[in-house]
Amino acid sequence: MVELCEQNADGRKVTGVFIEIGDLSGVLPDAVQFCFEACTHGTLLEGATLTITRIQGKGRCACGVESPIFSYFDPCISCGGFGLTVIAGEELRVRELEVE
Ligand SMILES: [Zn+2]
Repeated sequence: MVELCEQNADGRKVTGVFIEIGDLSGVLPDAVQFCFEACTHGTLLEGATLTITRIQGKGRCACGVESPIFSYFDPCISCGGFGLTVIAGEELRVRELEVE
């Protein structure tokens, strides 16, 4: 992720990083926050502020209803059916970089 940011920064110093983490991505925002400082040490991202936006999981059922989901095994809120198609919550991406 740090590498990705550095590529985007194109040699400029990064002052802020905004990332999105989906609830279903298996990535813990706390862990990312914790690693960020260590991972960015000595890079263009050193000293940058990290802002994490969490994205709630959402699945679409065969019945057409979209349900909020917290795991891959959550059922549809309308019909109780399983096997929802995940349409949100798997994100792990850099949304925006602030550069000097
Ligand atoms: Zn349903």
